[in-house]
Formats: sequence, structure tokens, C-alpha cells
Amino acid sequence: MKRGWNFNPGPAALPLEVLEQAKEAFVEYGDQGLSLLEMSHRSRTVERIVAETERLLLDLIGLSSEYRVLFMGGGASAQFALVPMNFLGEGKVGRYLVSGSFAEKAYREALTIGQAEALASGKAEGWRKLPDVRQLKVATDTAYVHMTTNNTIEGSQFRDLPDTGEIPLIGDMTSDILSRRLDWTKFALVYAAAQKNLGPAGVTAVIVREELIKAGNKQIPSIFQYRTYADNSSLYNTPPVHAIYMMKLTLEWTARQGGIPELEKRNERKIGFLYEAIDAGDGFYQGIVEKPYRSMMNATWRMRDEGLEKQFVLESEREGFIGLAGHRSVGGLRASAYNAVPEEACKALAEFMNDFIRKHG
Ligand SMILES: *Cc1c(COP(=O)(O)O)cnc(C)c1O
Repeated sequence: MKRGWNFNPGPAALPLEVLEQAKEAFVEYGDQGLSLLEMSHRSRTVERIVAETERLLLDLIGLSSEYRVLFMGGGASAQFALVPMNFLGEGKVGRYLVSGSFAEKAYREALTIGQAEALASGKAEGWRKLPDVRQLKVATDTAYVHMTTNNTIEGSQFRDLPDTGEIPLIGDMTSDILSRRLDWTKFALVYAAAQKNLGPAGVTAVIVREELIKAGNKQIPSIFQYRTYADNSSLYNTPPVHAIYMMKLTLEWTARQGGIPELEKRNERKIGFLYEAIDAGDGFYQGIVEKPYRSMMNATWRMRDEGLEKQFVLESEREGFIGLAGHRSVGGLRASAYNAVPEEACKALAEFMNDFIRKHG
């Protein structure tokens, strides 16, 4: 089998080593006479896998024991609802940085639960810019501030985090977790569906300060309360065991590469190849996002007409590139260069882009 150059936005590329390891363990896990998929989630083996995955993630981001990692279902979209259900109390306002379509979805879910406001919105400008959050002022009636650190669909990314003081900062980091160094202590809660930088779809990692868990609403069904997951080590009900196991393998791979600092360097080089190719086209490729806000994970661009964009996708597929069509809501092209996408893939794509200009420019 020849593996293609996978630039899928999510579910996305996984390290080949991780796939091989998972395959190895698929039919029989260790010497236990059964597969992990058939094993009780009450077994010591599964308990250990869940505990190790939590520890690995906290180690990689360098957070202390003030934080817990919870493994939950429903994807990042479930978190859009669970955050306000748990933390948007009476008389308080959830304040959202509406920086892209996923951020807007999170904001809209909050409106179904209680009071929410947009601190800023980039919609009118076609999501091409991001607000400056360094001097962000938040009113005292704010329940929490919610931000999407990387806007997967549009291809923009916050460089800075706001300082919200006592008010909890909540981040959707689904598409850039573990990709760069950050001051994690600024966050009270971060969530990331696994299918971009953490593993396969089916599980969401929620990294949350113990204090915030305790402050959550107790008047909602227990399955929707973060404390239920914290009190039961994410084993209150049957968790997606195999997805968590694959997250564990992905985290071990991440650590073997040199952790976040090394991946950040690689990611800068990788996305650098792509933006260089976009800019060298002298207008042939038009970046969708203004330069200071460009994402290190998802590069997005348009071409002079849709016909040419379709031709680009067609020819790229013939050359073994996968997943370059832009999101249906934005159009154009998008290359998602998550942690597991190798440097060679980005180099090959940049070359393809240069060749494409020679043919069609
Ligand atoms: C992919 C993505 C989502 C949606 O995740 P689901 O698991 O499909 O709900 C939400 N937010 C961001 C930033 C994403 O990249």
C-alpha cells in the first residue's frame, strides 16, 4: 500500500507508527486473550490506559496536578453546549470571541442556555482578521470568556491569549492542541476533540482546573456534569476505550518526537513551505486570511476562479495529495498540516503548487 500525502482537515493524518502499533494490538491486547475492544472498562488494563493517557497529556503540556483531563464523547460540538450548561449561571454572561465558524457555533449554543455576548466578531470582514486580545477588558458579570485558538475552517490562529484574571478562560483547541508552546495556566478549561492532533475521532480531551469543576452547575443531568467525569476518572459510563488507547499512542509518539517545542519548530517549517508557495505566486494564489493572523495548522487560499480551483484539486489528487478542497462554507483550497503530517508532504505540496503555476499561470 502506498500512503498518500494526507492534508485532511479532520479526521486527519495519524502517525504511521501509531497505526502500526494499534494494528499490532488490535486482535489481542498484550497476552490477555482478547482485544481491547472486547474488554471491560472496569478492568485494571483499561483503568491503567485511561490514567496513563491523562498523565501523558498533562506532562506534555507541563501542567501541574491542579488540572484534570477528562475523556468525553460527543466531539467538540458537545462541549459547545456543556460549557454553558455547567458554567453559565443566572445573572452572568458568557462572553465569546467569535473568530470563525466553530467559534460562532459555540456562541450560538450558549444562547440556547442563557445569556451570551460576542466580545468581537470577524464575520463582517469575512473572518480575515482576529481581534487583539492582549488588552481585552471583561466586565465583572462575565461567567467565562470562550475563544477558539485556531479557526480550522478559515485558517486563522490567535498568537496571544487574553489575561482574564479571575474570570475563567475557556479554549477550544481542537485544531492546534500540542502544536505550539503556550501559557496553559491562563486557561481554566481547554477542550479538544481528538481527530486533529490527538488521535482518532470518538473522544474529546477536556483539560480543566479542579476549582472550575467544583464550581459547575449541579442542577443538570449528571452525565452532563464535568464533576461526574472527574469523580469517576472518566469511567462513569463506558468510555470510547479504543479511541483513548489510540490517543495514548499518539501522545507517546508526540513525546518521542521531542514534545511540543520540537513539534512547534517542525510546524513552523512545514506551514512556511506552504505560505511561501502561496506568496511566491504573486496573486495566482490568494491567501484568505491576512498575514499576521495566518494559522500554523490550516493554510487557506483561493484562486482566480472556481474552475481553476477544481482543476487544482483534481491534479493534486492524481499526484497523491488528499484533502485539499476548502470547507464547503468558505470554498477555495485548504491544506491542514497537523502534527502528524510529515515535512516531506508539505515540501511536496509546495513543489506541486509551483509546478501548477507553470502549467496554468
Ligand atoms: C473540528 C473542530 C470542531 C468540531 O469538532 P466535532 O468533534 O466534529 O464536534 C470544533 N472546533 C474546532 C476548532 C474544530 O477544529
